[in-house]
Amino acid sequence: MTFTDFAALKEKVKIEDVCNLYDLKQKWKGNQGRGPCPACPKGDDRVLAVNTQKASFYCFSARTGGDLIAMIAHTQGISQRDAAAEIAKKVGLDSSPTTPKSPPEKKEDDLYLETLKDMIEDLEQRVSALEEAKVVKLRAT
Ligand SMILES: [Zn+2]
Repeated sequence: MTFTDFAALKEKVKIEDVCNLYDLKQKWKGNQGRGPCPACPKGDDRVLAVNTQKASFYCFSARTGGDLIAMIAHTQGISQRDAAAEIAKKVGLDSSPTTPKSPPEKKEDDLYLETLKDMIEDLEQRVSALEEAKVVKLRAT
């Protein structure tokens, strides 16, 4: 049996990304999404409600709701354990059964990407600070 850390999974995966992964045709409005539920063909195309802020879903047809794992369990008709394992696999999270306690090692590429992202963030902050300074100067003259 495959070990899947539910909490770690929910921390790393966004419910809206899971919607995309499973092709749940959600129409987004702010942090609310509405769409058809693949498990409830009798429902209309708004029965499945997703809240990205709470990372939760509610199916008005089946009158059931929960977190993103429960959402996939419901919409795909599988168990929560299978849903969690499947999502982990789809997003490339390690769900190794032998070493659940040790965190997965970061690949060099990931570290490089993270460093780049940090640099970009830093640059963006500098640019906006410069731009603000410019505006202040213009107003002063
Ligand atoms: Zn449903």
